[in-house]
Amino acid sequence: MQLLLFGAPGVGKGTQAKLLADEFRIPHVSTGDLLRTAVAKGTKLGRKAKAVMDAGKLVPDDVMIGLVRDVLSSPVASKGFILDGFPRTLNQAQALAQMFEELGIPDYRVLNIEVSSEEIIRRLSSRLMCRNDGKIYSTETDGVTAGSPCPDCGGELYQRDDDKPETVRHRLEVYCNQTSPVLKFYEDLGVELTVNGMDTVENIHRNINRLLQSAEMR
Ligand code: AMP
Repeated sequence: MQLLLFGAPGVGKGTQAKLLADEFRIPHVSTGDLLRTAVAKGTKLGRKAKAVMDAGKLVPDDVMIGLVRDVLSSPVASKGFILDGFPRTLNQAQALAQMFEELGIPDYRVLNIEVSSEEIIRRLSSRLMCRNDGKIYSTETDGVTAGSPCPDCGGELYQRDDDKPETVRHRLEVYCNQTSPVLKFYEDLGVELTVNGMDTVENIHRNINRLLQSAEMR
């Protein structure tokens, strides 16, 4: 199965992608996670990307397209993948369509998760991430605070620099101006599915599976 998860920051793409990747035993390819790993390792890419990410801006298209091309053409992705956080511009969407053609991937879906802006801001300001396994928690609903151990693996929970309020506002603007037009591209191709993201993680996961079933993707 080849699935793209689409939606504004904070709609729950990462959480749902991890569940689907576990269920279908295919890799979760998150461009945000790939960049954060590069930043943590201090690679050339990481050094270039850090300032851009901290400002809530987009890393240049050519860099992102190269990164995604490397992963999707490698053996890890040969049985399918859940792509999360890419494409974020029309240019990236067009490059991905060409990559799919080259890799012989005719059948894929784009799952759009919809959440209101008020809820997104609330979620991002209470979001913590595990430094070790990347799992997401909320200070509002999971009884955790920054610095406390991850309930799953014991890693340190931290607030992403780009989840600070001033940066969140900018990321939402970037989403509105540069990323949301990509949805129309996929609607026109007839591959878009939309799920309501204002529900529990379990219900959203169940609804996604229903949608995939009706689209004969599982
Ligand atoms: P995410 O974890 O998906 O919210 O991504 C975190 C940050 O990484 C974004 O705010 C961007 O700065 C950068 N990023 C991730 N994916 C992309 C992409 N497809 N294009 C450009 N920048 C990206």
